Parts: sequence; C-alpha cells; structure tokens
Amino acid sequence: MPDVGTAPELPLEAASPFELRVNLGTNVAEADVRSALATGDMGFLHSFTTGATVDGPGVRVVAWTAGCMWRCRYCHNPDTWTMTNGLPVSVEKATAELRKYRAGLKVMSGGLTISGGEPLMQHRFVTKVFAAAKGMGVHTALDTNGYLGERLSDADLETIDLVLLDLKTWDAERHRSLTGMDNAPTLAFGRRLAERRRPIWLRYVLVPGVTDDLDDIAHTAAYAAGLGNVERVDVLPFHQMGQYKWEKLGLPYSLADAAPPDQALVERVIAVFRGAGLRTV
Ligand code: SF4
Repeated sequence: MPDVGTAPELPLEAASPFELRVNLGTNVAEADVRSALATGDMGFLHSFTTGATVDGPGVRVVAWTAGCMWRCRYCHNPDTWTMTNGLPVSVEKATAELRKYRAGLKVMSGGLTISGGEPLMQHRFVTKVFAAAKGMGVHTALDTNGYLGERLSDADLETIDLVLLDLKTWDAERHRSLTGMDNAPTLAFGRRLAERRRPIWLRYVLVPGVTDDLDDIAHTAAYAAGLGNVERVDVLPFHQMGQYKWEKLGLPYSLADAAPPDQALVERVIAVFRGAGLRTV
C-alpha cells in the first residue's frame, strides 16, 4: 500500500472542482486499489474544495472522489471517472484535514459533503470518513447517483445526515442513452432512504434538448413527491465549464453545441416540481 499519510505536499486542495486533474495516482497498483476498497482504510480523491455553498446546507468542505461507472453525456468532471487517477488518501489523513475546518463549519452551519465521481464506488472509505466526521459533530452529506446505494447498510445510512440524490432523467431508455446505465437502482435507493427516513435533496441537471421534456420531469417530480423525504429540489442549469476537460482527455463530447437553458425554461421546470408540492430554491 502506498504511504500517502506522509505526503503533505500532495496537491489535494483545488481552487474548484473544475480544475482538470489527471495522473494523480499513476503509481498506485491495481492490487493496492483493490485492497483499499476492501478495507476502506484508503480512498482515492480527485481533490477537495472549501467554501462551497451549493452542495448541502451552510458552507461546506467538499471531497471529490475518483471513480465513476456512469458516462453521463453532460458530465463536467470526466477526469474523476478513473479511480487510479485519484490521489490515495488514508482515512486518518482525511479526518485530520477535516479537523482543521471543524470549528468554522459549525459556525457557518455547514459540514462535509462527499461528491465525485461516484463516492459509493469506495463506500467503505466514505462511510469511515463520515463516521469520523459525525464523531467530530460535523454534518455529513453524500452526493450520489444512487446506483450503488445497496452497498450501504442501514447502519451506514445513519452516518449520512443528507443525501444529494442525482436523478438524471425518468424514462429508462432515455436514461440509458444519457448515462449508459439503468436508473432502477437509483429509484430503489430513493425509496429505501424514504423508508429509513433519511432526508434527500434531489438534484436535476437541466440540459436543453436532452433533459427538458416536461412530461418526463413530471414523472420525476411525482416520484420525488411520493417519497415524502425530499426536502428540496435543486434544478441545476447545464453549463459548459467541463467541456475543456473532455477535449483535453481526448473524449468525444456530444454536447459541444448545447447551450445553457434560458431562464424561462428553468422556471417552467421549477414550476413542474413545485406543482408536485416540492420545494425548490
Ligand atoms: S454520475 Fe456524475 S461523475 Fe459520473 S458520469 Fe455522471 S455526472 Fe459524471
């Protein structure tokens, strides 16, 4: 296992998640990755950022994990897709880093959010860090596509104060076309969170011509309203801040000509969610 706990010079903190970061963990062997995933003592991070105000309540530290098995056409962090591109970080190092911010996070009613990538690719590491955060009295939020939610035990769920659940689109075929994956596990995870009374903030990325079908959105809204634990819905207008990453990584980007939604479309979509009785901001 690489000795990452003694590598303070590693550039873990990023100015923003839109920094392209590649080859951070090129010296990590596959066997070390497997061992880290099995124990959860080590995780693989793209970066962490501080001062975030859109990834959960208050002002937050956000840890961006490496590794995602989805291939969303609008992904703005394709440099997080490969886990071996992440920087190996021990639970101890992550906890020590968080401890520096603990007092400030409390004052600003914030906490720790773990996002990605897809954090549940390394669920043992994530739940260990969340448990440590809870031990410090720090609020915890998980930003996830929910596909691997069944990896979390009921006890694991208790370490997560809030789930930011990313629902990409309702129609199964459209979802496969958009992400390459099935959305049934995500929907099942939402229902399980409802049964366990764990709060959800639902996140919906609005891309004109891709995720702007109002009937489809109405299905998503009805599902979310029916859960009973969705505290709010964030409609996130698509942007092109991640486009340069696709180009730098040599990945084919199908949304090069897509424009952000105009305000009228954003308001129509918000109205659909509100019409189902959901709170939006
Ligand atoms: S689930 Fe998130 S990180 Fe993964 S491809 Fe989709 S947008 Fe990117």
